[in-house]
Amino acid sequence: MAGERILLVEDEDRIRQMVREYLESEGFSVTEAADGAEALDKFKDSEFDMLILDVMLPAVDGWSVCREVRRESSIPILMLTARGEEYDRLFGFELGVDDYIVKPFSPKELVARMKAVLRRSSNSGGNASSAEMFKYKELLVNMSSRKVTIDGRNIDMTPREFDLMSFFIKNRDRVFTREQLLNKVWGYEFGGDYRTVDTHVKMLRESLGEYRGLLVTVWGVGYKFEAEDTK
Ligand code: CA
Repeated sequence: MAGERILLVEDEDRIRQMVREYLESEGFSVTEAADGAEALDKFKDSEFDMLILDVMLPAVDGWSVCREVRRESSIPILMLTARGEEYDRLFGFELGVDDYIVKPFSPKELVARMKAVLRRSSNSGGNASSAEMFKYKELLVNMSSRKVTIDGRNIDMTPREFDLMSFFIKNRDRVFTREQLLNKVWGYEFGGDYRTVDTHVKMLRESLGEYRGLLVTVWGVGYKFEAEDTK
């Protein structure tokens, strides 16, 4: 993995330069933006593989940039947040943030997270083996177009929520621990925040509505998806 184009949005010069130098030493190609408006301009001007976005920015904040970008792109987004700053995980994930990292972070930790996010996003592109439909009663999941309908209604999901669901569908009736899910769905080789999994399970259940019961909590262990394919 090298040469990915990163748009780095951070208003603190010191952090931006430090991150830039480290990322370049790791083979990434980095474009800097010091505020939200500059970020949106540069985003519209060129192609990027990933967005690293500080939450607290002058004028246009990170959330607004994220919302704006998500209107037209499913580019991976990693948010930077300050320690002590209340970061609302649910809000972030619902906006389509892929992951977040709390300052102060080590550049090495940042790169590990970035690689996990990039790995996941390159895996989730429709390949032949996942080009299939899953049907359970009125729940219809198209693995290749990543569309979900219930009773013919379109269900909106974030990219990560869909990845979690498609992983469960492909591995029906098997119990996974949070750690296994972070590893398999998020691509983390080690560590990570288990609450990230819980938050996405919660979002996915809400999206599944009347079918929420398919996603079963196995107390003390983790989660599993219980549904026969009824095609
Ligand atoms: Ca900031």
